[in-house]
Amino acid sequence: MIIQLQPDISEVQKEKLIAKVNGIGYKTTEVKTQLGDYLIGIGKNDFDIRKIGQMDGISDIHVVSDEYKLVSKKWKAKPTSVDLGDDVFIKDGEMAIITGPCSIESEEQIRKVVQHCVDNDIKMMRGGVFKPRSSPYAFRGLGLEGLKLWYDIASAAGIKIVTEVMQTSQIEEMYPYVDVYQVGARNSQNFNLLDELGKVDKAVMIKRGISGTIEELLQSAEYVFSGGNEKLILCERGIRTYERASRNTLDLNAIPILKAKSHLPVIVDPSHGIGIREYVPQMALSGVMAGADGIIYESHEIPEKAYSDGQQTLDFAQSARLASWIRQSFAMRKNFDLL
Ligand code: PEP
Ligand code: MN
Repeated sequence: MIIQLQPDISEVQKEKLIAKVNGIGYKTTEVKTQLGDYLIGIGKNDFDIRKIGQMDGISDIHVVSDEYKLVSKKWKAKPTSVDLGDDVFIKDGEMAIITGPCSIESEEQIRKVVQHCVDNDIKMMRGGVFKPRSSPYAFRGLGLEGLKLWYDIASAAGIKIVTEVMQTSQIEEMYPYVDVYQVGARNSQNFNLLDELGKVDKAVMIKRGISGTIEELLQSAEYVFSGGNEKLILCERGIRTYERASRNTLDLNAIPILKAKSHLPVIVDPSHGIGIREYVPQMALSGVMAGADGIIYESHEIPEKAYSDGQQTLDFAQSARLASWIRQSFAMRKNFDLL
């Protein structure tokens, strides 16, 4: 069960409430986020919700049978809108377009991608400065200095920054320069990292784990939410299956399912999802039609020269075309009365 507490609940009222909830065999955890104060009750016994709902200091109570609670749609039916400032949102009812290189490589490259975003009215740029690479000998990113440089150029152009945080020690140093912290697929169940991101008042985008289930992705989001941060975005980026013809298997099924199970916005990464440049647009548009609230894909001036993931990266002409197709597809989707 989730109980939303009134902001002015007294300590005595809270103690009485906790005793009552414990009394019906439920363990309680108090969760304070930037937006609210909640009491989460975990247990299995049947109980009369009215007996608790009538107690003082409560503004709302719901029974949520899912393993995840605060990210469940059973708790909050209204979709969450993630506000990045300057009228940039990731939310239901809009189509976020996020593009940029797999790795931030140089000042010149940053300037070119920022200009590409500006030219195409793309408000969010992605790129890695700390790169999780399967081989320790591959390029591992420009680090914090690269992020600072990127921030100077992007913020002057009004472009928001989406970039991966790999470990807890990086959260604070990255904070002034980041608009969305990306949790990569390899860190999707790094619970220490998720706990720490709960303490931050900036948006967090969690990618689905390489072998992660939909349920596990929602549980990862629950970690951040219950740590205090409600500004969350879910990302489907493909999972590992027995199929070897594509890099991963983009699980389009996950999109309507996540949208039905959770109030959080869902975005799709077709670049890592299929891993083959020629087919990125098809999968991006499929993601739009499946109900995504945004698409994040890799682009670079000369993909063949990209330090990482060039094989799945679009050049600027392809990216401009895709951005326009994404918008057209989204406009068309809005005419369909899908769920
Ligand atoms: C990336 O976005 O460049 C990346 C490394 O993605 P993932 O964590 O999904 O592999
Ligand atoms: Mn990549």
